[in-house]
Order: sequence, then C-alpha cells, then structure tokens
Amino acid sequence: MLLIPCPHCGPRDETEFHYGGQAHVPYPKNPAELDDRQWAEFLFYRDNTKGAFAERWLHSTGCRQWFNMLRDTVTYDIQAIYQMGALRPTPDPAAQVAPDSGTASTAPDSTTTGDTAPSTSSTSTPAPEGATT
Ligand code: ZN
Repeated sequence: MLLIPCPHCGPRDETEFHYGGQAHVPYPKNPAELDDRQWAEFLFYRDNTKGAFAERWLHSTGCRQWFNMLRDTVTYDIQAIYQMGALRPTPDPAAQVAPDSGTASTAPDSTTTGDTAPSTSSTSTPAPEGATT
C-alpha cells in the first residue's frame, strides 16, 4: 500500500486518491489547426517512463485538490509533491534507475505538438490541468 503525502492533508492511504495521468502535457497552441492524428496524439499518447515520472493526482476522498507527484515507476518511491502549474522538480540522480534495453524512453516523442517536449521543458506554459480553480 502506498502512503501518499497530500500537500494539504498530510500522509494518506493511496485508496483516497485517483491517478490523473501524466503531468505537464501542454495543450496545443492552435488546436483547430491540428489534424486528426495530431489531436489523437495529444489526447492519448503519453510517455511510458521507467524511472522518475511526473503524474497528476487527485485527493478524491479528502480535500478534493489536484497536485503533481514525481514518482519512480520502478520503486514507487515518491520523490516530490508539488502544486499544479509548478515546474517539474529535478529528480535525485542518485535515485535514478540505470536505463537498460527495456521499453522505456526518455526521448521526446511524437506527442509533442508545440515547440517543446512535454516532459523535458521547464519553460513552457503549463497545460490547463482541468481541475485547478
Ligand atoms: Zn488532501
């Protein structure tokens, strides 16, 4: 069982939370100009990172607030909790899992519809996260 430190409520059991997918996926600058494939890539294509991965989480049975979490997808180690719209913190290099020949990739992929890659840029405008008020 994962103990998730909600930034508003403190440590709570993972059953109180809902996973919200990959964080920092930029909304297209001109969505009307995208073709069907580009729009589908924005909607459905996400990174499949082995190691530190920025995710959105909702404390659905607690404060009902969204937040971002930097979590290692191999060890489940929670490396950082930060507010929606904040920049992705740099993961601890000592905590990184050595890459191997598996399926994970840290390279920017075809989901990028703007000028920057969603998981590597620290200067892009944060995407509308939907649940922030
Ligand atoms: Zn909470």
